[in-house]
Amino acid sequence: MALEAREHAAVVTHALAGHVLTELRNVETSQVEFREALVTLGRVCGYELVDSRFPVESATVRTPLADATGPRVAGLDDVVIVTVLRAATPFVEGLLKVFPAARQGVISASRDESAGMGAGGEFPIAVEYVNLPEVRERDTVIVADPMLATGSTMVTVLEELLDGGRPETCLVLSVVSAPAGLERVRERFPDVELVTVAVDDELDDDGYIVPGLGDAGDRAFGTD
Ligand code: URA
Repeated sequence: MALEAREHAAVVTHALAGHVLTELRNVETSQVEFREALVTLGRVCGYELVDSRFPVESATVRTPLADATGPRVAGLDDVVIVTVLRAATPFVEGLLKVFPAARQGVISASRDESAGMGAGGEFPIAVEYVNLPEVRERDTVIVADPMLATGSTMVTVLEELLDGGRPETCLVLSVVSAPAGLERVRERFPDVELVTVAVDDELDDDGYIVPGLGDAGDRAFGTD
């Protein structure tokens, strides 16, 4: 089974996804290895999304010798991928190997960590840059952000995105999620499907996922 429905989200259970996530979690993994692992994971997640969320039709083609009928995945030309800057950049690089025809959106939304986490487990979110394609009803929209922690950033991103139109299918794709963040997004956007590689235990007092993998943006970009 490509995606397994669990309590808080659909989980990518492919053995390679788990393997790569373990590499990402490892504090010994270098910046370059970390970035490359995120690209690999984007590709694996993309394959799993195709396998479980896209319809397959039958197509007849002509080989050099004869007619042949085989499967053809429908809907690959109607995909929008939204990169939540900056940690999603290498993750989306992998996704684009699977969805090369995707129209792309970019949004810079980040939490104001200096304000601290609110009593309800939320952060104020600063939106600095938004450039989103038109979203059509037939599109499958994939919003990629490797870390879904408090859910505050994702709720803000979805508010910006879905203001311009409601696609039939909108997926949030993350690598590591916290139950509280998934709940926050589900409450505000019950029609958005949540897909993740792992649901971790909890958030620490600074809103980091535990055990998590640390700051995905810093680790992928080599900043502190
Ligand atoms: N963002 C990250 O990069 N890591 C976390 O644990 C939480 C938010």
